Amino acid sequence: MNELIWQLDYDFQHEPREKTDQLQEEHLLKHVNYCLRKSPFYSKRFGKSIAEITSLSELSKLGFTTKDDLLQNNDAFLAVPETDIVDTCFTSATVGTTPVNFHLTKSDLDRLTYNERVAFQISGVTREDKMGVCVALERGFMAGLAYFLGGVSLGTHMIRIGGARGLQHIWNLIKTHQPTALIGVPSVLANVALQAIEAGDNPASLKVERILAIGESTRDKQLRLLPSVNRIEQLWNAPIYSTYASTEMSTSFAECLHRQGGHFRPELIYVEIIDEQGNKVEDGEIGEVVVTPLGVQGTPLIRFKTGDMSFIINQKCPCGRTTKRIGPVVGRKAQLLKYKGTNVFPNAIASIVEANSDFFGCFVEAYSAEFGEDRVVATIAATSEKYDLDKLKEEFRAGLRVVPELRIIDKEEFLQKTQPEGKRKRQIFFDLRKGE
Ligand SMILES: [Zn+2]
Repeated sequence: MNELIWQLDYDFQHEPREKTDQLQEEHLLKHVNYCLRKSPFYSKRFGKSIAEITSLSELSKLGFTTKDDLLQNNDAFLAVPETDIVDTCFTSATVGTTPVNFHLTKSDLDRLTYNERVAFQISGVTREDKMGVCVALERGFMAGLAYFLGGVSLGTHMIRIGGARGLQHIWNLIKTHQPTALIGVPSVLANVALQAIEAGDNPASLKVERILAIGESTRDKQLRLLPSVNRIEQLWNAPIYSTYASTEMSTSFAECLHRQGGHFRPELIYVEIIDEQGNKVEDGEIGEVVVTPLGVQGTPLIRFKTGDMSFIINQKCPCGRTTKRIGPVVGRKAQLLKYKGTNVFPNAIASIVEANSDFFGCFVEAYSAEFGEDRVVATIAATSEKYDLDKLKEEFRAGLRVVPELRIIDKEEFLQKTQPEGKRKRQIFFDLRKGE
């Protein structure tokens, strides 16, 4: 393998954009040509027609790689001899039923470590911190492993709290070890705090100085903090920094202290945002995030369609870093609802409900309707018996232009439906459309 881009003595976050772009392009070509030579999947797909590409303009010839490609041909993505594998990560089977394996070489593990160390630094974590990792570290979960390795390499004191043993367990360990930073899924950390408060404890009085949020967006399209996230900050008395990552990306986009989107990692990943037809959209426009993680040896990918809908922020960041940023994930492509002539994401519906203090939360169900439209039902839990539904309807009209069908249930029923025991993330969307 050629020298890896992230091992160069070069500051990808502060150097001039032109120089960084040029370095990235060189390494993107190296990476793609490595895939064409070494990956059975890619050499079978392109072997006869494309043996090599020599410029960025040729990249589009290679089409896209989908989740389905990975599911159907998982073994064919392995680009190294089996003896070079040192770790296997697998995805949680949230899409489809079969998890996908990602085999990592020693170099991939080093890359992952570097990736997370720099991501932590961008979010202000230092070696003085004590970090509570409130996500799974077992079950082949890549994120937990990356956090641990990245933190250790930064010199941070890591407390592997884990995520599988329930809210009480997480709270007990936080209380015992007094971390200064937490990393976890926002809705889970909200419930940990609420349960602790119910039992007479006060999470806001602990030493937590920052929370790194994974798996859920923390901001809306305008980069305003979601009301639910605002509430979590109050519960813990600590600011929340978003980090966007996935197993396929093997890369984290972390927010800096100014919290205006996750800084790009040009040394680790090439990002495109595409429209329905697969064409690149302008910076600032929402489209599907497509990634080519650079320098991955074991299970390398070219132009992987993440299914996440987001946008690129190209304005200068007050922190002085020169990299572009990725906006919040505004929804999953497969969750886009067509309702009364408007495109709506379930997340957007839920965040309007959560912004209204009369209501505790909401989940969304979609059914097929006529003429390619969807029927959208928002089921809402109220905080008390007194609530103003007309005001909420007004807020829907102002925020989304449409009002979904509304149904009210009690909090218990809501929690059972959205947060079943043992689930990594809460579920607020139920897709009951035909043929989905
Ligand atoms: Zn910044």
